[in-house]
Amino acid sequence: MSHTVYLALGTNLGDRMVNLAHALVLLTPHATLRNWSRVYETPPWGYLEQPAFFNMVVEAETDLEPVGLLDHLKLLEEKIGRGKSVRYGPRLIDLDILFYDEIEMRTSRLEIPHPRIAERAFVLIPLAELAPTRKLVPGGQTIADLLARIDQSGISPVTVRENDSPAGLAVMFQEEPEALDRFIGLPPSHQREYLQHILEAKKPATRRKRFDWTVNQLSIKKD
Ligand code: AMP
Repeated sequence: MSHTVYLALGTNLGDRMVNLAHALVLLTPHATLRNWSRVYETPPWGYLEQPAFFNMVVEAETDLEPVGLLDHLKLLEEKIGRGKSVRYGPRLIDLDILFYDEIEMRTSRLEIPHPRIAERAFVLIPLAELAPTRKLVPGGQTIADLLARIDQSGISPVTVRENDSPAGLAVMFQEEPEALDRFIGLPPSHQREYLQHILEAKKPATRRKRFDWTVNQLSIKKD
């Protein structure tokens, strides 16, 4: 059975746009993207001596149960190269489950809704693009209400059009399941080279061309 989830992505090391695209492409076999926010650049939070983050929120559908989804997100973080790091410190990618259907759960491993949504502008701003009227808990405040009460300074969008989002690239792969399969089988460093090559193109038509070239390369590799 399919479940609707909202996931938050954050990254502040290396090529941040490639990191987001990498996570979203690797996610697509397990969670189909339905909607996504813009990408925002946000000042570091918690531990301040570190580079600025890129943050975004996506809505997706998945057949995985909550713990299965968390396990999968942890695997993706490993693959993309998160490594060990200080709490709230720099990272290649951080993936959090914000909402999972209407589920409320509090276990030592997993808390849904995510316990720190209300205090984080870098989550509330992109989440408010997708689900402004959603309530954090039944009878509680909406995402838009929570956002109105919080300091939003220093946060600005870095993607503006539909087609300059890293999610657009994940959707292209979603529509080419065979190419996606082959892509998933590559070592992460090769995956990143392809993604970087595509994302370097700023014009949508050039990006499309580079994606088609990538699909072609992937099919040649197989034969
Ligand atoms: P972090 O370092 O902030 O990514 O937190 C890591 C740990 O938070 C994970 O290993 C999870 O066990 C735990 N966690 C609790 N609730 C959630 C959630 N809703 N989404 C992701 N991780 C969660």
